[in-house]
Amino acid sequence: MKTTIIGYPRIGNLRELKFASEKYFRGEIKVSELEEAAKTIRLYNLKLQKNSGVDIIPSNDFSFYDGVLDTAFLLNAVPERYTALGLSKLDTYFAAARGYQGEKGDVKALAMKKWYNTNYHYMVPEIDDATEIKLVGTKLFDLFSEALENGVKTKPVIIGAYTFLKLARYKGTKTAADFIAQTADAYSAILAKFGELGAEWVQFDEPSLVKDMTADDIKLFNELYNKILPNKGSVKVIAQTYFGDVRDCYNSLCNLDFDGIGLDFIEGKKSLELVKNSGFPKDKTLFAGVVNGKNIWRNNYANTLLIVSELKKFASDIVLNTSCSLLHVPCTLANETKLEESYKKHFAYAEEKLTELAEIKKILGSDSPAETAEYRNNSALHSEPRSGRNEAVRKRLAELCEKDFTRLPEFAEREKIQKERFALPLFPTTTIGSFPQTAEVKSTRNAHRKGEISDSDYESFIEKKIADCVALQEEIGLDVLVHGEFERNDMVEYFGECLDGYIFTEKAWVQSYGTRCVKPPVVWGDISRAKPMTVRWSVYAQSLTKKPMKGMLTGPVTILNWSFPREDISLKESALQIALAIREEVLDLEANGISIIQVDEAALREKLPLRKSDWKEDYLDWAIPAFRFVHSGVKPETQIHTHMCYSEFADIIKDIDDMDADVITFEASRSDLTILDVLKENNFRTEVGPGVYDIHSPRVPSKEEIKAAIGKMKERIPAEKLWVNPDCGLKTRGNAETVPSLTNLVNAAKEARNENC
Ligand code: GLN
Ligand code: ZN
Repeated sequence: MKTTIIGYPRIGNLRELKFASEKYFRGEIKVSELEEAAKTIRLYNLKLQKNSGVDIIPSNDFSFYDGVLDTAFLLNAVPERYTALGLSKLDTYFAAARGYQGEKGDVKALAMKKWYNTNYHYMVPEIDDATEIKLVGTKLFDLFSEALENGVKTKPVIIGAYTFLKLARYKGTKTAADFIAQTADAYSAILAKFGELGAEWVQFDEPSLVKDMTADDIKLFNELYNKILPNKGSVKVIAQTYFGDVRDCYNSLCNLDFDGIGLDFIEGKKSLELVKNSGFPKDKTLFAGVVNGKNIWRNNYANTLLIVSELKKFASDIVLNTSCSLLHVPCTLANETKLEESYKKHFAYAEEKLTELAEIKKILGSDSPAETAEYRNNSALHSEPRSGRNEAVRKRLAELCEKDFTRLPEFAEREKIQKERFALPLFPTTTIGSFPQTAEVKSTRNAHRKGEISDSDYESFIEKKIADCVALQEEIGLDVLVHGEFERNDMVEYFGECLDGYIFTEKAWVQSYGTRCVKPPVVWGDISRAKPMTVRWSVYAQSLTKKPMKGMLTGPVTILNWSFPREDISLKESALQIALAIREEVLDLEANGISIIQVDEAALREKLPLRKSDWKEDYLDWAIPAFRFVHSGVKPETQIHTHMCYSEFADIIKDIDDMDADVITFEASRSDLTILDVLKENNFRTEVGPGVYDIHSPRVPSKEEIKAAIGKMKERIPAEKLWVNPDCGLKTRGNAETVPSLTNLVNAAKEARNENC
């Protein structure tokens, strides 16, 4: 049995590519130095995989920014506004990735979108009626040759024709079906060229096949490959799927002339069933994704062996594979110098996953697999009781019943009580929580972290910032104030650090987009709240003003979605544990005189399953109750707010209303407030603050502009349900634009108020 992987992280063990690219962007290094840094990473990865015993090593998984963008450049699908700048090839590419502002012109970047159900983001290719899809790039051939020169015949990986056409945005009247012939020709040319270069396997990544497919989608997929595969010559072609199962097109996949089919046995909940029920074609190789490419835990060899032994009954040729590209996990444990061995031995980053593949291969090749040292060590590891069990938390959650998820009295009655209590004006104004995190705030926090500043000095510093922030909001005339979140580095990491059950890594960076990486905290044990996390800051802030001060928390679903989750308990259980901790904080805030509490669920939509049919059962059925559990214990006169960072929630609008918050604020300005119609049609009950301006840009919105937005809002939503606020937190903004923006916002709300009387 052979082994392979779908792709390897390209940022470098210590994010070398990020630092080199950013230097290049700032003009500090030459293009040749950037190219050199990239090559060093590629050759390092190649050697590492070779030494780890990977049999079929991928190439072209390297990218200077994003693999989908690479494919657009490969296939000539580059909007003219970028090529017209007259820049070098690489700079044209970066212009499409990041936008360009300079002497040659001023263009925005291509749109960026979440890559399936991951936290990675890809650049959305644009295709218009004039686009001519054809093979124009050479990077994939160059990288194949580079590896060959270094002694490895690799498996080039390319986004497949179907997925590429599905991901593209069509600007004109033509649609994907109009590009079948051109696209098939381009992919045929790719295969022909690889035939000449002597490639054995070529991997076409087709993750779009795991999404719900319509009859037209299946037709598109078949037509493309019926045209491409007859031209494959001596090259063997893999249809590589990941992030789920291929229940809608399994038969097509089996019937088409692919030489290999890659299936995901980690996230594909029906993958095994498909193989068992429909069999697997005798003449094809099964690339079996059995090592999790998304999480950081050691593989459980006993489980893996079970899957493989099932598969062996149906497939005669199996290659052991990761479930998806290793892009989604950090590079190597070698740099985790501070993590205790008792934790570390349970971890496998990309490099360690290579070893796992080799070990599984070795075990499978042995006459008595269960006797091998590798197997025995692995079983011992997995049978160790997990530290960090919290019986009190377990017991509390086991006793939950319907009433824990139901806040009483019901919404309308609470709304009345709260209107009386707060006596806020019409169109109350507020912000989403954070105020500008200036260099001073960041450096003081870092200094405190390093122990250069004492706790008490740090705390006085934060109090001073809060006092200034409250005074500023009073002066501007906002109605519901915030403390500004100066004590937080990040809305998830901050809570992770306060909660028991979380652990933190040092260098576990994962690419989020381009040169941006994130370092998600790890859920290790049962989550519990050892002590209040935010109460002292909120209480201090409230003591400075007579206006209501919003308590500010992150919700359980968002905290979980931005962490590496446990695999030994369900996501639902983890979410409820976090919810219990946040609930305790909510009750503590309430007991300490905080009358309005915002629980952010910025990332609620992010982990919505790829298939609509899985939405409820696999996600919403626990995510929404977890949120309800957070606030079901508060008094009717306490007002619960939530905030979401996107406006595309038309399809889950009922579920959002079911979170039963009293007020929700969300991003709406960039989508031109189109969500308002959806709210209206669905009789949305929760009070709403659709963001009236975009905080992602330094632009200051005028009072008139904001008034126009309020006007639009009021046409569709009853005025007494409306709030006026920016569309997200202000932490990435500067004071220079924040003060005039909020001043205009308050004045616009005042005028709208007066006109309404
Ligand atoms: N309260 C958070 C803030 O203002 C919300 C951040 C977010 O929505 N991503 O920063
Ligand atoms: Zn937001």
